[in-house]
Amino acid sequence: MSSSESLRFETRCIHTGVHKDGAFDSATTPIYTSSTFGWSDLKTNKGYEYTRSGNPTRRALEENLAALEGGLDCRATATGMAAITTIMHMFKSGDHIIAGHDIYGGTYRLFEAVYSQFGIDVEFVNQQDLDRVRKAVKPNTKAIWIETPSNPLLNLVDIAGLVEIAHKAGAIAVADNTFLSPYLQRPFEFGVDIILHSTTKYLNGHSDVVGGAVITRQKEHAEKIGYLVNSLGTPCSPFDAWLVLRGLKTLGPRMEAHQKNAMALARFLEKHPKIERVYYPGLESHPHHALAKKQQKGFGAMVTADIKGSRATAEKAMTSLKIFSLAESLGGVESLVAYPDTMSHATMTEESRRAAGISERTMRLSVGIEHIDDLIADWKQALEA
Ligand SMILES: *Cc1c(COP(=O)(O)O)cnc(C)c1O
Repeated sequence: MSSSESLRFETRCIHTGVHKDGAFDSATTPIYTSSTFGWSDLKTNKGYEYTRSGNPTRRALEENLAALEGGLDCRATATGMAAITTIMHMFKSGDHIIAGHDIYGGTYRLFEAVYSQFGIDVEFVNQQDLDRVRKAVKPNTKAIWIETPSNPLLNLVDIAGLVEIAHKAGAIAVADNTFLSPYLQRPFEFGVDIILHSTTKYLNGHSDVVGGAVITRQKEHAEKIGYLVNSLGTPCSPFDAWLVLRGLKTLGPRMEAHQKNAMALARFLEKHPKIERVYYPGLESHPHHALAKKQQKGFGAMVTADIKGSRATAEKAMTSLKIFSLAESLGGVESLVAYPDTMSHATMTEESRRAAGISERTMRLSVGIEHIDDLIADWKQALEA
């Protein structure tokens, strides 16, 4: 079935981009592992030549993701970092980019340690304050890099406000929509030009693949990104594409289950005497709760909490958990807890971690879709341990 704007989100998840196999009328898209495809004469092939430049299984995923974000085109990449790398090659030496000060640790490292060597100047600004962003704009500003909610403190930034600043400066707005997925946040509706995902997280949702995607809404950007993915060699394998396509079918119901659990666990932790502070945009106490209600369709399932005490107290609680695994990553059906200070954000300097508000008592939870009573009981016993 082809993409259709009239279909509702959950229906598109299941049907858009499904390339059924004509030989046997399969219900799902087959995995085309073939590296190359035949030509019938020197001018004619069936739309695919070589799997780096295009592959039917990967294309099915790309059509699906483009439809879910409401974009024109999508390119599925090997990882989320490969998606970011591809986008960064749209820029050149001498360009200036304004990124948030508390973005994903790997993105921060890529900008700070790698692209700085190629003369691309990425400036990290607290984007919660639009005036600071306005003041950071320079004549050579080519993009505003948005990630909301942020990692790990779940700070929100005003997407529409940042887009306005970018466009006024003649720059583009890029949004990393990994934390919420298009089910809960649709950055194109606020004027964003390019969306990227780590499909490793909610889109695949089963912690069994790493992948990424770049979604565009303008023809010029679609062509550029398609050219770059092929030139750089950043696309994902057909098998990985198939896994993500499989995970996507249940995106809607999974996100509902995830965020219902997250809200209940956040409320439990907020009242617990051993917890100092809970960061969850769904709580009325969250400083950006109103903005979350305005620009998101839900609050997501990432919950961060500061425990009372020290690094040792945090370590004791996290290693006492039985259902939550102590591991990096997020967005899978299984619950995880991570320690940003030594795990996801270890590549930042201690100074920049503290400046971003990450302390040695900060624990980041990716709330899965297990039964909520089991998840609450797990934290109850771990905090009493
Ligand atoms: C995980 C993640 C990335 C990087 O994706 P990989 O698939 O690990 O390469 C980028 N941005 C955000 C917000 C992420 O959570």
